[in-house]
Amino acid sequence: MNDFAFSSDPFAAVRSAPTVEGVGFMHNRLSRDTEHRDGDSIPAMMAQKHAGFYLFHKDTLLLATKEATSRAIFSKAEAETLGADMETAIILGTDPEEEAAPRLAMLLTDEAADKLEGTDGYRFESVRTLGLHGMLPNDQLGAIAQARGLLNWHDNHPYCSKCGSKTVVTLGGARRDCPNCSAVHFPRTDPAVIMLVLHKDDEGVERCLLAHHTRFTGPVYTTLAGFMEQGETIEAAVRREVFEESAVRVGAVRYMASQPWPFPASLMIGCYGEALSSEITVDPTELTDARWFTRDEVRTLMKRGTDSDLPHTPGPFSIAAWLIRSWVDMVE
Ligand SMILES: [Zn+2]
Repeated sequence: MNDFAFSSDPFAAVRSAPTVEGVGFMHNRLSRDTEHRDGDSIPAMMAQKHAGFYLFHKDTLLLATKEATSRAIFSKAEAETLGADMETAIILGTDPEEEAAPRLAMLLTDEAADKLEGTDGYRFESVRTLGLHGMLPNDQLGAIAQARGLLNWHDNHPYCSKCGSKTVVTLGGARRDCPNCSAVHFPRTDPAVIMLVLHKDDEGVERCLLAHHTRFTGPVYTTLAGFMEQGETIEAAVRREVFEESAVRVGAVRYMASQPWPFPASLMIGCYGEALSSEITVDPTELTDARWFTRDEVRTLMKRGTDSDLPHTPGPFSIAAWLIRSWVDMVE
């Protein structure tokens, strides 16, 4: 007899998972409809009356700050006046909650950006800062992450990687094609695993593994993370990264949620990992410290603000914080 029991509802765990409300870049309601785009899609969408544009310069987004709340979506007329480079326009999608209004993104010229820097009523803000400080509605942040990742890819991939010819934008910005050798090039998404490792000792006390990374300036204790390698499963990547950074062995791995992280093109795959060993040896190139924390100890860290001089957890915007908080809130 098979002793493997599986719930009749395979999604029970998903339904009982904590809400991801407030976690950054995860909410994007735009309809992309990429497959139905053609060579006329960009000008056709740009010409629509309610088309809205996100305007970027390097890694920053332009905000209009004259109104009570900052605004990130500009009309075509505004974009033209402000000095957007119309040639860089790409489609993000249409907004089903705004009568299918097209949403596009483009770059401002260096000259236009220089002029706007000193202009009252406008401000440039990094996409990361926008997210961390919740400066725009959460559903817009998902589209902004999409725009940031895509514009960055176009900006850095103008040539064919096979023959070196200049490529052209197709599918409204979702692909670049080579007119010389016919190669097609898709935007990159680099998957990374981010995991909270959990351990239960012989007395039944549960702890999670939090670490201070060498790249952090403040005393932030958070999850481990790392890029996936070619031909690797998510589970194998979690086990490898945890072992490399802390020497802790992980057995069971459970996927929880994912978060686009467009700096420049990551997808953070959030997991829990079950520790099979508890002795920690940190990799000093990655971590300055790693420790096991009980739920009560983590609560203490969480209560401190992200500007505290004492050890604390990351702000609620990151999937790391969500993984930590969700574990703390689990019924023991
Ligand atoms: Zn080519």
